[in-house]
Amino acid sequence: MPNSLTAIYPGSFDPPTNGHLDLITRGAGLVNHLIVAILQNSQKQPLFTVAERTEMLKEITANLPNVEIDSFDGLLVDFAAHRQANTIIRGIRAVSDYETELHMALLNRSMRPETETVFLMASAEYSFLSSRMVKEIITLGGDASKFVPPAVMRRLHIKFPSTKE
Ligand code: ADP
Repeated sequence: MPNSLTAIYPGSFDPPTNGHLDLITRGAGLVNHLIVAILQNSQKQPLFTVAERTEMLKEITANLPNVEIDSFDGLLVDFAAHRQANTIIRGIRAVSDYETELHMALLNRSMRPETETVFLMASAEYSFLSSRMVKEIITLGGDASKFVPPAVMRRLHIKFPSTKE
């Protein structure tokens, strides 16, 4: 298809939250094909394996036919070149996200000039929501069901059986 636009939405998604799903849904409405790309080489010790995160993302995006789940290791610009995608979608929640995102976008463009990063503003109801916050609530025995899709909540219960439903 001429002018077909493929975009990549990269992240750790450990675990995917309602904020991620909101961004995926909105991003999928803007482009022809959206690749949600799980970063494999995160230095952080992840809660979920890449295989588990892939499964969860597939389940929660099953109703979005133009969304694909993939994962990558190494530089995002190399993955973008490999997938022939010039557009990267990232979310901005607060001013605190802006500085790192700006640096990353400029760095990516300097490494691969075709790369264009597009920022979507977080929806107001999710602007405070992060995977880190969900992990904190869960490890402290709280209820995170308002913040993650049911398919993610089910897996959190399996890992942390004492968490509230
Ligand atoms: P990373 O480790 O790359 O920051 P994350 O999974 O935390 O990966 O986030 C991936 C992307 O999703 C980032 O652009 C982040 O700003 C965005 N994001 C995370 N949470 C939200 C949210 N609640 N609303 C909108 N965007 C979000």
